[in-house]
Amino acid sequence: TSPTINKTSLKQTTCAYCGVGCGVDISLLNNVPTKLEGMREHPANFGRLCVKGTHLLDTTGSDNRLTSPLINNQAVTWDEATDHVANKFNDVIQKHGPDAVAFYVSGQLLTEDYYIANKLMKGYIGSGNIDTNSRLCMSSAVAGYKRAFGEDVVPCTYEDLEQTELLILIGSNAAWTHPVLYQRMERAKQLNPNMKVVVIDPRKTDTAELADTFLNIKPGSDAALYNGLLNYLNEHNHLDTQFIAQHTNGFESALQEVQKWSCEAVSDFCDIAIDQVTEFYALFANSPSAISFYSMGINQSSSGVDKCNAIINAHLASGKLLKPGSGPFSITGQPNAMGGREVGGLANQLAAHLDIENEAHQSLVQRFWLSPTIANKAGSNAIDMFDEIAAGKIKAVWIMATNPMVSLPNNAAIKKALETCELVVVSDCIAKSDTLKFADVAFPSTGWGEKNGTVTNSERRISRQRPLVAPYSGAKNDWQIMCEVAKKMRFEGFDFTDPSGIFEEWAQLTDFENNGSRLLNLSGLVGLTKSQYDNLKPIMWPVVKNQPYKNGQVFTNNQFSTADKKARFIPITPQLPVQQTSIDYPFVMNSGRIRDQWHTMSRTGKSTALSSHITRPYIEINPLDASKLAIKQNDLISAIAQTGQVTAHAKVTDAVRKGECFMPIHWNKQFASSATVSGLYQSVVDPLSGQAECKHGAVNIVKAPFV
Ligand code: SF4
Repeated sequence: TSPTINKTSLKQTTCAYCGVGCGVDISLLNNVPTKLEGMREHPANFGRLCVKGTHLLDTTGSDNRLTSPLINNQAVTWDEATDHVANKFNDVIQKHGPDAVAFYVSGQLLTEDYYIANKLMKGYIGSGNIDTNSRLCMSSAVAGYKRAFGEDVVPCTYEDLEQTELLILIGSNAAWTHPVLYQRMERAKQLNPNMKVVVIDPRKTDTAELADTFLNIKPGSDAALYNGLLNYLNEHNHLDTQFIAQHTNGFESALQEVQKWSCEAVSDFCDIAIDQVTEFYALFANSPSAISFYSMGINQSSSGVDKCNAIINAHLASGKLLKPGSGPFSITGQPNAMGGREVGGLANQLAAHLDIENEAHQSLVQRFWLSPTIANKAGSNAIDMFDEIAAGKIKAVWIMATNPMVSLPNNAAIKKALETCELVVVSDCIAKSDTLKFADVAFPSTGWGEKNGTVTNSERRISRQRPLVAPYSGAKNDWQIMCEVAKKMRFEGFDFTDPSGIFEEWAQLTDFENNGSRLLNLSGLVGLTKSQYDNLKPIMWPVVKNQPYKNGQVFTNNQFSTADKKARFIPITPQLPVQQTSIDYPFVMNSGRIRDQWHTMSRTGKSTALSSHITRPYIEINPLDASKLAIKQNDLISAIAQTGQVTAHAKVTDAVRKGECFMPIHWNKQFASSATVSGLYQSVVDPLSGQAECKHGAVNIVKAPFV
């Protein structure tokens, strides 16, 4: 017998979890992944990884995977399953019109998957009914940028975090949710003794350990805090009057709106000491640079867009943006929330940042796709989509790579919708989830380590996710499944054989003449060969043809994407959260991630190492409230809301304010006997972004009766 020759190789890919988008090096021995490290040359992480990224290989493999497509829980061939879905979708569309079908997709999809989903729904079926779980993550930030800058463009990069003199983290527990960026912040502070950090949060999280100043504000009061800052900048002559005059509109009306927000009024409204208010404002006013770094604590609100614009207003007024170390910087939760919004992943957008209700843009996209139709109005956003399913208006839904039974608010209503729906199709890389229980058709799709395509991180950097191993048991990529169904629906334009072809078409779509001067431009990537695509290094958009010096630069010369090239101030009237406490429901319920789990635990729950950090669900409660209710550490307690109830162990801690509680979002019926915290929230959304208010529910807390 011949001696065995061991073959080693290295694959470079991108982490599957958060919007930091860390590069990962995987060593393989005889095509089996054996070792994982942070990619040293990736500009997002320079070799760093957090604990979730370090344990990515624990979550691959055969555990909890579908081995074939299913119809009514019976194994069928791919042909039978795609025939069934194509025929059913065609039937529903013929009988009830295109708006009777919908796709609910995910920030876990790659850009190529997202592109095909949008092309199929908006250009061929002819409905805007495609929305994404990223609606829960960053849609308020998208709407805020569009209002202020004329386009959904994040104006900062990770390097700015290392160049700033003042880092403000507002509504972000970066230490747990974006750990590699937090490590970069820690390092920057060590290297620059002048750098100050302000953390603003109703909860005292691990992130507050980095703070020189911690503002423990009342939940939901962020817009008032930033309105007061704008007022302070004006009253203390810290405006950048030249920038305001030359590059903005609407300053006077925004100013009028903030005049009542004196430091006293802010102190009162935000429930913090006046000295803290003035100290923060003086720090911002006198700092040569400042970043406001924000995520779900701002976005997941019934007035999230206003909060984003209150933040942007202060940066515009002080000229603290488009300079090193300055700007409003929203961070996405998911690995490809940004890529999704580029290709039109939200129901109110077309691809390439074009507007769904603009006739010229509709015609431009339709001509490019040579498609039979084009959606001409916004479709249903995530929350409305499930309401319309429950009402029988949407009769067929295809859910891809997401678990809305756990993640959407008011999951009793989601359950009713899925029970009512004539056809529920679910594509996922897992075999069991609270949502898959409702699937009439289940498609086994590829998971991380099998997928092949691109993602875009929070700083607009496109990176490759590369396959390490063959798809498990014949699982297919989401774009492949959709292309097969599209062709069986008798649509042309879906003959792709490789993701590089989809990326090429997508890049061409951004290269239209007269595309409204959108900054989202990948024309410099048009014409990549398959091999160039396979070897693509991380690159930040815009990537403009023949102008490589412009790569990654946005709003050059302070020219924004509005018609007059000026940014807009938006007058903001701070609003309180809609779900207010009452005598029956006297506690505010906040929610968020823990360090070592991801979303509904369908993948991180497989890792023993990750599951050992925090082993069971818990509810944080302030010691004063606990004492009043005779609740001791680790007692079982129930949080009861109008929409549902959840039971977990008490964590008595002054990290939460009196009258407020916190529960992680991850646990659900699959991993604990109790329901998820999202069931405690009503389906309340921001009217401008459709983002749900998932940080501020009203609950009663009682000791569990069986204890
Ligand atoms: Fe993955 Fe985010 Fe951790 Fe980076 S910070 S390794 S992208 S989970």
